[in-house]
Amino acid sequence: MDFLPFFLGYVGIFGIVAVLVLFANSTPYFSSVSDRIKQIIIRTVHKVVPTFIINLVKDIVHYVFNTRNHVMQFMFGILVVGGNVILMMDVMPLLYIFEPEENHMFLPMVFLFVNLAAFHLSCATDPGHITSSNVAMLASLYKADGIMFKAGSQCSTCKLAKPARSKHCSICNRCVHRFDHHCIWTNNCVGAGNLRWFFGFLWTLVVMVVNGAVMGTRAMMLMVQHLKIMDSGYVDPSTGNVLPVTIPVMIQHLFMQHPRCVFLISSLFMLTVLLGLFTLYHTYLLLNNQTTNERYKIADLPVVKLGGHPQDEASHKESTSPGSSENKQQRDKNGRHLSGQDQKKNSKSSRKQASSPKSGENRKVENNTAVRGHKCDEKDVSSFYNKGLYQNICEVLFPWSDLAEMQEVAPQNVQSTDSIHKRKKR
Ligand SMILES: [Zn+2]
Ligand SMILES: [Zn+2]
Repeated sequence: MDFLPFFLGYVGIFGIVAVLVLFANSTPYFSSVSDRIKQIIIRTVHKVVPTFIINLVKDIVHYVFNTRNHVMQFMFGILVVGGNVILMMDVMPLLYIFEPEENHMFLPMVFLFVNLAAFHLSCATDPGHITSSNVAMLASLYKADGIMFKAGSQCSTCKLAKPARSKHCSICNRCVHRFDHHCIWTNNCVGAGNLRWFFGFLWTLVVMVVNGAVMGTRAMMLMVQHLKIMDSGYVDPSTGNVLPVTIPVMIQHLFMQHPRCVFLISSLFMLTVLLGLFTLYHTYLLLNNQTTNERYKIADLPVVKLGGHPQDEASHKESTSPGSSENKQQRDKNGRHLSGQDQKKNSKSSRKQASSPKSGENRKVENNTAVRGHKCDEKDVSSFYNKGLYQNICEVLFPWSDLAEMQEVAPQNVQSTDSIHKRKKR
Protein backbone atom coordinates (compact mmCIF):
# COMPACT_ATOMS: atom_id res chain seq x y z
CA MET A 1 0.00 0.00 0.00
CA ASP A 2 1.36 3.44 -0.96
CA PHE A 3 -0.69 5.35 1.55
CA LEU A 4 0.84 3.96 4.75
CA PRO A 5 4.53 4.71 3.95
CA PHE A 6 3.46 8.20 2.83
CA PHE A 7 1.49 8.75 6.03
CA LEU A 8 4.30 7.40 8.28
CA GLY A 9 6.85 9.50 6.37
CA TYR A 10 4.73 12.59 7.04
CA VAL A 11 4.42 11.67 10.73
CA GLY A 12 8.20 11.13 11.00
CA ILE A 13 9.19 14.38 9.27
CA PHE A 14 6.57 16.37 11.19
CA GLY A 15 7.83 14.83 14.47
CA ILE A 16 11.52 15.61 13.79
CA VAL A 17 10.81 19.20 12.71
CA ALA A 18 8.49 19.77 15.70
CA VAL A 19 11.11 18.39 18.15
CA LEU A 20 13.80 20.67 16.75
CA VAL A 21 11.56 23.76 16.66
CA LEU A 22 10.18 23.18 20.16
CA PHE A 23 13.24 22.00 22.02
CA ALA A 24 16.20 23.52 20.15
CA ASN A 25 16.12 26.73 22.19
CA SER A 26 15.14 25.10 25.45
CA THR A 27 17.43 22.19 26.17
CA PRO A 28 21.19 22.00 25.76
CA TYR A 29 20.87 18.47 24.31
CA PHE A 30 18.51 19.37 21.47
CA SER A 31 20.42 22.59 20.85
CA SER A 32 23.58 20.59 20.09
CA VAL A 33 21.59 18.11 17.94
CA SER A 34 19.96 20.94 15.98
CA ASP A 35 23.37 22.61 15.54
CA ARG A 36 24.79 19.40 14.07
CA ILE A 37 21.78 18.97 11.75
CA LYS A 38 22.13 22.64 10.74
CA GLN A 39 25.79 22.06 9.85
CA ILE A 40 24.94 19.00 7.71
CA ILE A 41 22.15 20.91 5.90
CA ILE A 42 24.41 23.95 5.32
CA ARG A 43 27.23 21.78 3.89
CA THR A 44 24.82 19.94 1.57
CA VAL A 45 23.05 23.12 0.45
CA HIS A 46 26.35 24.89 -0.32
CA LYS A 47 27.19 22.16 -2.84
CA VAL A 48 23.89 22.46 -4.74
CA VAL A 49 22.35 25.94 -4.40
CA PRO A 50 23.76 29.20 -5.92
CA THR A 51 25.42 31.59 -3.44
CA PHE A 52 23.01 34.52 -3.89
CA ILE A 53 20.04 32.32 -2.95
CA ILE A 54 21.94 31.01 0.10
CA ASN A 55 22.69 34.59 1.19
CA LEU A 56 19.05 35.60 0.73
CA VAL A 57 17.85 32.64 2.83
CA LYS A 58 20.51 33.42 5.46
CA ASP A 59 19.25 37.02 5.70
CA ILE A 60 15.65 35.82 6.05
CA VAL A 61 16.58 33.23 8.71
CA HIS A 62 18.64 35.84 10.59
CA TYR A 63 15.75 38.30 10.47
CA VAL A 64 13.15 35.75 11.63
CA PHE A 65 15.15 34.03 14.38
CA ASN A 66 17.76 36.56 15.55
CA THR A 67 15.91 39.87 15.56
CA ARG A 68 12.73 41.10 17.21
CA ASN A 69 9.93 40.75 14.66
CA HIS A 70 6.32 39.60 14.43
CA VAL A 71 6.79 36.78 11.87
CA MET A 72 6.49 33.86 14.30
CA GLN A 73 3.65 35.53 16.22
CA PHE A 74 1.83 35.83 12.90
CA MET A 75 2.72 32.19 12.14
CA PHE A 76 1.32 31.09 15.52
CA GLY A 77 -1.87 33.01 14.77
CA ILE A 78 -2.21 31.29 11.38
CA LEU A 79 -1.64 27.83 12.92
CA VAL A 80 -4.10 28.32 15.79
CA VAL A 81 -6.78 30.03 13.73
CA GLY A 82 -6.25 27.54 10.84
CA GLY A 83 -6.56 24.55 13.20
CA ASN A 84 -9.73 25.97 14.75
CA VAL A 85 -11.22 26.74 11.32
CA ILE A 86 -10.71 23.09 10.24
CA LEU A 87 -12.21 22.02 13.58
CA MET A 88 -15.28 24.18 13.04
CA MET A 89 -15.77 23.47 9.33
CA ASP A 90 -14.97 19.74 9.18
CA VAL A 91 -15.16 18.22 12.68
CA MET A 92 -18.02 20.07 14.38
CA PRO A 93 -20.60 19.52 11.61
CA LEU A 94 -19.93 15.76 11.89
CA LEU A 95 -20.34 15.88 15.67
CA TYR A 96 -23.59 17.85 15.32
CA ILE A 97 -24.87 15.23 12.84
CA PHE A 98 -24.22 12.31 15.19
CA GLU A 99 -24.76 14.08 18.56
CA PRO A 100 -27.10 17.03 17.83
CA GLU A 101 -28.18 17.52 21.45
CA GLU A 102 -24.66 18.35 22.76
CA ASN A 103 -22.91 21.74 22.67
CA HIS A 104 -19.65 21.06 20.79
CA MET A 105 -18.82 24.73 20.31
CA PHE A 106 -18.48 26.02 23.88
CA LEU A 107 -15.27 24.35 25.15
CA PRO A 108 -13.10 24.91 22.04
CA MET A 109 -14.10 28.59 22.05
CA VAL A 110 -13.22 28.97 25.76
CA PHE A 111 -9.84 27.25 25.25
CA LEU A 112 -9.10 29.39 22.18
CA PHE A 113 -10.01 32.64 23.94
CA VAL A 114 -8.03 31.84 27.13
CA ASN A 115 -5.01 30.67 25.10
CA LEU A 116 -4.95 33.79 22.95
CA ALA A 117 -5.30 35.97 26.06
CA ALA A 118 -2.34 34.18 27.73
CA PHE A 119 -0.38 34.45 24.47
CA HIS A 120 -1.06 38.18 24.31
CA LEU A 121 0.00 38.65 27.94
CA SER A 122 3.25 36.70 27.51
CA CYS A 123 4.00 38.79 24.38
CA ALA A 124 3.11 42.16 25.89
CA THR A 125 4.20 41.88 29.55
CA ASP A 126 7.60 43.22 30.55
CA PRO A 127 9.70 40.11 31.37
CA GLY A 128 11.83 42.13 33.80
CA HIS A 129 13.83 44.66 31.82
CA ILE A 130 16.75 45.77 34.02
CA THR A 131 17.23 49.53 33.96
CA SER A 132 19.36 51.95 35.98
CA SER A 133 16.32 52.73 38.14
CA ASN A 134 15.50 49.14 39.15
CA VAL A 135 18.90 47.42 39.03
CA ALA A 136 19.68 47.97 42.72
CA MET A 137 16.31 46.57 43.82
CA LEU A 138 16.50 43.56 41.44
CA ALA A 139 20.08 42.81 42.57
CA SER A 140 18.76 42.42 46.12
CA LEU A 141 16.25 39.70 45.17
CA TYR A 142 18.67 36.80 44.58
CA LYS A 143 22.08 35.99 45.97
CA ALA A 144 24.88 35.09 43.60
CA ASP A 145 25.71 31.39 43.87
CA GLY A 146 29.34 32.05 42.94
CA ILE A 147 29.35 29.40 40.18
CA MET A 148 26.62 30.21 37.66
CA PHE A 149 26.36 33.83 38.74
CA LYS A 150 29.28 35.78 40.12
CA ALA A 151 28.66 38.65 42.53
CA GLY A 152 29.63 42.10 41.31
CA SER A 153 29.60 41.27 37.58
CA GLN A 154 28.53 43.88 35.05
CA CYS A 155 26.81 43.69 31.66
CA SER A 156 29.32 44.90 29.09
CA THR A 157 26.52 46.11 26.76
CA CYS A 158 24.10 47.78 29.20
CA LYS A 159 26.93 48.97 31.49
CA LEU A 160 24.78 48.01 34.46
CA ALA A 161 25.38 45.63 37.36
CA LYS A 162 24.22 42.11 36.50
CA PRO A 163 21.85 40.82 39.21
CA ALA A 164 22.09 37.08 39.95
CA ARG A 165 19.91 34.97 37.59
CA SER A 166 19.70 37.76 35.01
CA LYS A 167 21.03 37.58 31.45
CA HIS A 168 21.56 39.97 28.58
CA CYS A 169 19.26 38.98 25.71
CA SER A 170 21.15 39.59 22.49
CA ILE A 171 17.91 39.62 20.45
CA CYS A 172 16.15 42.26 22.60
CA ASN A 173 19.45 43.98 23.52
CA ARG A 174 18.57 44.30 27.20
CA CYS A 175 19.28 42.56 30.48
CA VAL A 176 16.33 40.60 31.86
CA HIS A 177 15.68 39.68 35.49
CA ARG A 178 15.45 35.90 36.19
CA PHE A 179 15.98 35.28 32.47
CA ASP A 180 14.64 31.97 31.20
CA HIS A 181 14.96 32.15 27.41
CA HIS A 182 13.98 34.30 24.44
CA CYS A 183 10.82 32.87 22.87
CA ILE A 184 10.58 33.44 19.12
CA TRP A 185 6.85 32.61 19.15
CA THR A 186 6.00 35.39 21.62
CA ASN A 187 8.71 37.73 20.26
CA ASN A 188 9.64 38.42 23.87
CA CYS A 189 11.99 37.19 26.56
CA VAL A 190 10.59 34.86 29.20
CA GLY A 191 11.64 36.27 32.57
CA ALA A 192 10.36 36.80 36.10
CA GLY A 193 7.74 39.32 34.93
CA ASN A 194 5.92 37.14 32.41
CA LEU A 195 6.79 33.55 33.37
CA ARG A 196 3.28 32.98 34.80
CA TRP A 197 1.70 34.09 31.49
CA PHE A 198 4.12 31.93 29.53
CA PHE A 199 3.00 28.94 31.63
CA GLY A 200 -0.64 29.88 31.14
CA PHE A 201 0.04 30.04 27.41
CA LEU A 202 1.78 26.62 27.34
CA TRP A 203 -0.80 24.77 29.44
CA THR A 204 -3.82 26.24 27.65
CA LEU A 205 -2.17 25.38 24.34
CA VAL A 206 -1.72 21.76 25.48
CA VAL A 207 -5.36 21.62 26.64
CA MET A 208 -6.54 23.14 23.33
CA VAL A 209 -4.47 20.65 21.29
CA VAL A 210 -5.67 17.64 23.36
CA ASN A 211 -9.29 18.79 23.08
CA GLY A 212 -8.95 19.17 19.29
CA ALA A 213 -7.39 15.71 18.93
CA VAL A 214 -10.13 14.12 21.08
CA MET A 215 -12.96 15.90 19.23
CA GLY A 216 -11.55 14.96 15.80
CA THR A 217 -11.05 11.31 16.80
CA ARG A 218 -14.57 11.15 18.24
CA ALA A 219 -16.08 12.56 15.05
CA MET A 220 -14.18 10.01 12.93
CA MET A 221 -15.14 7.11 15.23
CA LEU A 222 -18.81 8.12 15.22
CA MET A 223 -18.73 8.20 11.43
CA VAL A 224 -17.01 4.78 11.20
CA GLN A 225 -19.65 3.34 13.56
CA HIS A 226 -22.55 5.02 11.76
CA LEU A 227 -21.43 3.89 8.29
CA LYS A 228 -20.38 0.45 9.65
CA ILE A 229 -17.09 0.79 7.74
CA MET A 230 -15.31 -1.91 9.79
CA ASP A 231 -18.08 -4.43 8.93
CA SER A 232 -17.84 -3.89 5.18
CA GLY A 233 -15.29 -5.07 2.60
CA TYR A 234 -13.17 -3.50 -0.12
CA VAL A 235 -11.98 -4.68 -3.55
CA ASP A 236 -8.22 -5.29 -3.74
CA PRO A 237 -7.24 -3.58 -7.04
CA SER A 238 -4.36 -6.04 -7.70
CA THR A 239 -6.37 -9.26 -7.31
CA GLY A 240 -9.98 -8.10 -7.67
CA ASN A 241 -10.89 -10.01 -4.48
CA VAL A 242 -13.18 -8.54 -1.82
CA LEU A 243 -11.25 -8.28 1.48
CA PRO A 244 -12.41 -7.26 4.98
CA VAL A 245 -11.57 -3.66 5.98
CA THR A 246 -8.51 -3.40 8.24
CA ILE A 247 -7.49 -0.37 10.36
CA PRO A 248 -4.89 0.94 7.80
CA VAL A 249 -7.52 0.61 5.04
CA MET A 250 -10.05 2.40 7.23
CA ILE A 251 -7.54 5.26 7.93
CA GLN A 252 -6.80 5.50 4.19
CA HIS A 253 -10.53 5.65 3.44
CA LEU A 254 -11.02 8.42 6.03
CA PHE A 255 -8.00 10.28 4.63
CA MET A 256 -9.47 10.16 1.12
CA GLN A 257 -12.95 11.27 2.33
CA HIS A 258 -11.85 13.83 4.98
CA PRO A 259 -8.19 14.73 4.24
CA ARG A 260 -8.16 17.92 6.33
CA CYS A 261 -9.65 16.13 9.36
CA VAL A 262 -7.14 13.24 9.31
CA PHE A 263 -4.28 15.67 8.70
CA LEU A 264 -5.43 17.80 11.65
CA ILE A 265 -5.96 14.84 13.99
CA SER A 266 -2.56 13.24 13.27
CA SER A 267 -0.80 16.62 13.69
CA LEU A 268 -2.66 17.29 16.95
CA PHE A 269 -1.73 13.88 18.38
CA MET A 270 1.94 14.48 17.65
CA LEU A 271 1.73 17.98 19.07
CA THR A 272 0.05 16.60 22.19
CA VAL A 273 3.09 14.41 22.87
CA LEU A 274 5.72 17.00 21.95
CA LEU A 275 4.05 20.06 23.50
CA GLY A 276 3.20 17.94 26.53
CA LEU A 277 6.86 16.98 27.00
CA PHE A 278 7.99 20.57 26.42
CA THR A 279 5.45 21.89 28.95
CA LEU A 280 6.32 19.19 31.50
CA TYR A 281 10.02 20.05 31.15
CA HIS A 282 9.30 23.73 31.87
CA THR A 283 6.96 22.79 34.72
CA TYR A 284 9.74 20.64 36.23
CA LEU A 285 12.08 23.66 36.04
CA LEU A 286 9.43 25.89 37.65
CA LEU A 287 8.82 23.47 40.53
CA ASN A 288 12.57 23.30 41.17
CA ASN A 289 13.04 27.08 40.78
CA GLN A 290 15.39 26.75 37.84
CA THR A 291 15.56 28.56 34.52
CA THR A 292 16.47 27.27 31.06
CA ASN A 293 19.42 29.66 31.14
CA GLU A 294 20.64 27.98 34.33
CA ARG A 295 20.27 24.52 32.75
CA TYR A 296 22.55 25.75 29.96
CA LYS A 297 25.03 27.16 32.46
CA ILE A 298 25.10 23.87 34.39
CA ALA A 299 25.59 21.94 31.14
CA ASP A 300 28.55 24.19 30.32
CA LEU A 301 30.24 23.91 33.72
CA PRO A 302 33.79 22.61 33.41
CA VAL A 303 34.26 18.97 34.29
CA VAL A 304 37.12 18.43 36.68
CA LYS A 305 38.42 14.89 36.45
CA LEU A 306 39.94 13.90 39.72
CA GLY A 307 42.42 11.15 40.27
CA GLY A 308 43.64 9.39 43.42
CA HIS A 309 41.62 8.52 46.50
CA PRO A 310 37.82 8.97 46.48
CA GLN A 311 38.23 11.22 49.54
CA ASP A 312 40.03 13.70 47.34
CA GLU A 313 36.94 13.92 45.15
CA ALA A 314 34.81 14.56 48.19
CA SER A 315 37.11 17.36 49.35
CA HIS A 316 36.95 18.92 45.90
CA LYS A 317 33.17 18.65 45.91
CA GLU A 318 33.06 20.48 49.20
CA SER A 319 35.31 23.27 48.03
CA THR A 320 33.49 23.93 44.74
CA SER A 321 29.86 23.10 45.39
CA PRO A 322 27.41 25.91 46.18
CA GLY A 323 26.17 23.67 48.97
CA SER A 324 29.56 23.91 50.68
CA SER A 325 29.70 25.38 54.15
CA GLU A 326 30.27 29.03 53.23
CA ASN A 327 27.70 29.00 50.44
CA LYS A 328 25.24 27.30 52.74
CA GLN A 329 25.88 30.13 55.18
CA GLN A 330 24.84 32.59 52.47
CA ARG A 331 21.78 30.56 51.56
CA ASP A 332 20.55 29.72 55.05
CA LYS A 333 20.65 33.24 56.36
CA ASN A 334 17.72 34.42 54.30
CA GLY A 335 17.18 37.42 56.51
CA ARG A 336 20.68 38.77 56.09
CA HIS A 337 21.63 39.21 52.51
CA LEU A 338 25.37 39.57 52.06
CA SER A 339 26.43 42.72 50.29
CA GLY A 340 28.20 42.48 46.93
CA GLN A 341 31.51 43.27 48.64
CA ASP A 342 31.08 40.56 51.25
CA GLN A 343 30.21 38.05 48.56
CA LYS A 344 33.20 39.10 46.51
CA LYS A 345 35.40 38.57 49.56
CA ASN A 346 33.80 35.18 50.14
CA SER A 347 34.18 34.05 46.56
CA LYS A 348 37.79 35.26 46.58
CA SER A 349 38.52 33.34 49.77
CA SER A 350 36.79 30.28 48.31
CA ARG A 351 38.97 30.45 45.23
CA LYS A 352 42.02 30.91 47.45
CA GLN A 353 40.98 27.90 49.50
CA ALA A 354 40.43 25.81 46.40
CA SER A 355 43.77 26.75 44.90
CA SER A 356 45.86 26.80 48.10
CA PRO A 357 48.56 24.12 48.13
CA LYS A 358 47.41 23.03 51.60
CA SER A 359 43.83 22.19 50.61
CA GLY A 360 44.89 20.63 47.34
CA GLU A 361 47.87 18.81 48.81
CA ASN A 362 46.64 15.31 48.07
CA ARG A 363 44.60 16.25 45.02
CA LYS A 364 45.81 15.16 41.67
CA VAL A 365 43.96 17.00 38.93
CA GLU A 366 44.51 14.99 35.80
CA ASN A 367 42.60 17.11 33.38
CA ASN A 368 40.46 20.22 33.52
CA THR A 369 38.46 20.60 30.34
CA ALA A 370 35.24 22.47 29.70
CA VAL A 371 32.91 19.96 28.13
CA ARG A 372 29.15 19.49 28.14
CA GLY A 373 28.32 16.58 30.37
CA HIS A 374 27.98 15.36 33.90
CA LYS A 375 29.38 17.46 36.70
CA CYS A 376 30.19 16.15 40.15
CA ASP A 377 28.48 19.18 41.79
CA GLU A 378 25.63 19.50 39.27
CA LYS A 379 22.97 18.59 41.82
CA ASP A 380 24.04 21.22 44.34
CA VAL A 381 24.26 23.95 41.70
CA SER A 382 20.84 23.11 40.27
CA SER A 383 19.14 23.29 43.69
CA PHE A 384 20.76 26.55 44.83
CA TYR A 385 17.62 28.67 44.26
CA ASN A 386 15.18 25.90 45.24
CA LYS A 387 13.17 27.23 48.20
CA GLY A 388 10.60 24.45 48.33
CA LEU A 389 7.50 23.79 46.25
CA TYR A 390 5.22 26.44 47.77
CA GLN A 391 7.78 29.25 47.64
CA ASN A 392 8.86 28.29 44.10
CA ILE A 393 5.27 28.45 42.80
CA CYS A 394 4.59 31.72 44.69
CA GLU A 395 7.70 33.27 43.17
CA VAL A 396 6.34 32.65 39.65
CA LEU A 397 2.71 33.59 40.42
CA PHE A 398 3.63 36.78 42.31
CA PRO A 399 6.76 38.29 40.80
CA TRP A 400 8.52 41.21 42.47
CA SER A 401 6.47 43.85 40.63
CA ASP A 402 3.13 42.49 41.93
CA LEU A 403 4.45 42.06 45.45
CA ALA A 404 5.75 45.60 45.57
CA GLU A 405 2.26 46.81 44.56
CA MET A 406 0.46 44.49 46.96
CA GLN A 407 2.61 45.60 49.87
CA GLU A 408 2.44 49.22 48.75
CA VAL A 409 6.19 49.33 49.06
CA ALA A 410 8.25 51.57 46.83
CA PRO A 411 10.48 49.39 44.61
CA GLN A 412 13.61 50.84 46.28
CA ASN A 413 12.42 49.48 49.62
CA VAL A 414 11.77 45.93 48.41
CA GLN A 415 14.35 43.81 50.19
CA SER A 416 13.85 40.33 48.85
CA THR A 417 11.12 37.99 47.70
CA ASP A 418 11.65 35.95 50.88
CA SER A 419 11.11 38.86 53.23
CA ILE A 420 8.04 39.97 51.25
CA HIS A 421 6.55 36.48 51.41
CA LYS A 422 7.17 36.49 55.15
CA ARG A 423 5.48 39.90 55.53
CA LYS A 424 2.60 38.68 53.38
CA LYS A 425 2.11 35.66 55.66
CA ARG A 426 1.90 37.94 58.70
ZN1 LIG B 1 22.72 43.85 29.31
ZN1 LIG C 1 14.75 38.66 24.35
